[in-house]
Amino acid sequence: MIYIDNAATTKTDEAVFEAMLPYLKDRYYNPSAFYRCAQRIRDDLEEAREVFANRIGATSSEVFFTSGATESNNFAIKQVAADYSHKGRHIITTKIEHHSVLHSCESLKRAGFEITCLDVNADGMISVKELENAIRPDTILISIMFANNEIGNVMPVKEIGEIADKNGVLFHTDAVSAFGYADIDVHDLKIDLLSCSGHKIHAPKGVGGLYVKKGVKVKALLTGGAQEKKRRAGTEHVAGIIGFQKAIEILNQSCLQNAKYIQQLRERFERDLLRRIPGVTIHAKDALRLPGITNFRIDGFRNEDLLIQLDLKGICASGGSACTTGSLEPSHVLMALGLSKEEAMQGLRFSFGKYSTAEEADFILATLVEIAGQKR
Ligand code: PMP
Repeated sequence: MIYIDNAATTKTDEAVFEAMLPYLKDRYYNPSAFYRCAQRIRDDLEEAREVFANRIGATSSEVFFTSGATESNNFAIKQVAADYSHKGRHIITTKIEHHSVLHSCESLKRAGFEITCLDVNADGMISVKELENAIRPDTILISIMFANNEIGNVMPVKEIGEIADKNGVLFHTDAVSAFGYADIDVHDLKIDLLSCSGHKIHAPKGVGGLYVKKGVKVKALLTGGAQEKKRRAGTEHVAGIIGFQKAIEILNQSCLQNAKYIQQLRERFERDLLRRIPGVTIHAKDALRLPGITNFRIDGFRNEDLLIQLDLKGICASGGSACTTGSLEPSHVLMALGLSKEEAMQGLRFSFGKYSTAEEADFILATLVEIAGQKR
């Protein structure tokens, strides 16, 4: 089996799995309980919190553990809206956000908020000027992703942070795709809220994080117990959080070197793809992109047909976000780049990861060459 869908999820690292095991077996105590062995679990959670906070230049009192980025995005957007609606009811986002952002904004729209969805160019980039022009006296939040999960382009985050800061508007970024590759410093980038997810960085599914800058108010997402500073009640997913910590510690050691390796694999694949298959267009080709994501189409080939054939050869790839697989609609991201519906239905996303190899990339390419050759 060849896995080329690391933007959908990643293989859990062996070391992450090993770190989690004791918390699924003997260290099962409720971290909120009174006795000393439970207190130790509480301490372990706080250590994990510190590791997460340090990774993004925050302090541990500023970070929350969540069930993943869908929750973090809902938490950030809806709960900021709830706490700042007296100041204004206007939010700015983009057309290429993940659905957990777009649907959160849509639900706020139904509740009376106004949402401006910025256009992007053919490389998936917003215009900073347009962002600036979109800000109004009643704008309370800008939510723009750090990097896109389908085409991999990296947004001008530093400039966005500066504009938000200058205008007194909060800046939330969905950093899921960038978290495993970029050294993010929330202060340097003037980020007020940041979402990330464990399963994109070789931790398990069902754990993630939200950073909320000190002083920014967010209403509680879940009420009940006093966990997560009373903002997200519920007994913590201890093993998952420990796994998340371990995955971040691994990132601290090998993130940049992995990014370099993955980028080389992707660039070589794209070069060969363009050389060996006629009618290939790589989307957002000239944008600053994440190391591992390539999104392209082959004229005359619907992605669905290609993905089935690839699957039959043991290759796991995707046509875009896994969250929308199964819908017959074209990718909203590719449509926002200006592709026709037919072109968007041809979009393929291959995402390399640290376990990908050059041999795998060669096999995938040879398989695509064969499939494309057969049809033509
Ligand atoms: N945002 C982006 C950019 C994503 O790629 C994903 C996962 N596909 C999410 C949010 C949701 O993350 P999770 O699966 O942790 O809920």
